[in-house]
Amino acid sequence: MAQDYYQTLGVSKNATADELKKAYRKLAIKYHPDKNPGDKAAEEKFKEVSLAYEVLSDPEKRRQYDQLGHDAYTSHGTAGGGANGADFRHAQDIFSQFFGGGVSFEDLFGGGGGGSRRRAYNGPVDGDDLRYDLEIDFEDAMYGADKKITMPRLVDCPDCSGSGCEPGSGKKVCPKCGGTGQQTVSQGFFSMSQPCSRCRGTGQIIEKPCRKCGGAGRVEVEKSFQLHIQPGVDTGSRLRVPGKGGAGLHGGRPGDLYVVIHVRANDIFTRNGEDLLCEVPVPYETCVLGGVVEVPTISGKAKMRVPAGTQSGTILRLKGKGVPSLRGGARGDLHIRILVESPTGLTAEQQEQLRKFAAGLNEKNYPRMASYRERAKRFLRDDQA
Ligand SMILES: [Zn+2]
Ligand SMILES: [Zn+2]
Repeated sequence: MAQDYYQTLGVSKNATADELKKAYRKLAIKYHPDKNPGDKAAEEKFKEVSLAYEVLSDPEKRRQYDQLGHDAYTSHGTAGGGANGADFRHAQDIFSQFFGGGVSFEDLFGGGGGGSRRRAYNGPVDGDDLRYDLEIDFEDAMYGADKKITMPRLVDCPDCSGSGCEPGSGKKVCPKCGGTGQQTVSQGFFSMSQPCSRCRGTGQIIEKPCRKCGGAGRVEVEKSFQLHIQPGVDTGSRLRVPGKGGAGLHGGRPGDLYVVIHVRANDIFTRNGEDLLCEVPVPYETCVLGGVVEVPTISGKAKMRVPAGTQSGTILRLKGKGVPSLRGGARGDLHIRILVESPTGLTAEQQEQLRKFAAGLNEKNYPRMASYRERAKRFLRDDQA
């Protein structure tokens, strides 16, 4: 007949306190009468799991139970045997004690299940994760930087240490629910219990709200801290700062802060992943004859060879002169786009020299132009055909 209490909870004989809690939480919610209105079998189950949990969660009772065995222990008069109604109320007491006086609709009627952060109204609630957008200069992204971040954060009120009660006063039993934290509402045929609206399920109300925080228990203060930015961050990089998010409640852990980076545009370099692009005007004669030009890199000036016959738009690559790798890999490259600059403001004499020089050139000196003329001619003929 009667099952062993371990079987009732579906745990092994050497289950830890934590495993017992988990098992009870799951089964108690599953068989809770609010969730199974009018279901006698579920009600019976609810009583059984509550009783089993009551015994096994108490180390002294559990020891006795293990020694005596199920039948001997239960006929001992320690548990069970009461009238049905008394048993049920007892089971409900165990249940509300376990859930800290408040179990929410979410807990009973679906939603997230085990992943929910908010277990019990009195229990610890972890703080929220927060986002902070930080704009930095291009140089900071290249060389790294330390930035001071100042932002408002909720912390425990210093006057009431987070209790919300004016110093010298305390909490009193909620007059609406009499301290149970529950209120009964009727919905059609069913009456369900839900967290008390006055005390929000805590069973207690604040006698005199703290003047500093208005009873919230938390106040907003400006907090600063140093944030180290590694070389190589880019727009959209998210830096996680553990514990700098919103403060927790009732001993819950603070959330994390996510700093989202926005890098300001630079007027020399354009970034593409870990490569950089830079446009450099190069004198006409250097492009024609070849030569060396000075170009900017993020680690200072560098000399770059321009081959003879370099055309406008040509991209030359400087390997390893790009963005430092965030993950410690090789640096990206620097791409230099050549812009051939024609000389302006020539004297009459210079113009004359250039005309003489150009007179000696022919189609072979301009292979791109010849090929272009061919393509243009073909296009125009096709168009007129
Ligand atoms: Zn306060
Ligand atoms: Zn209440």
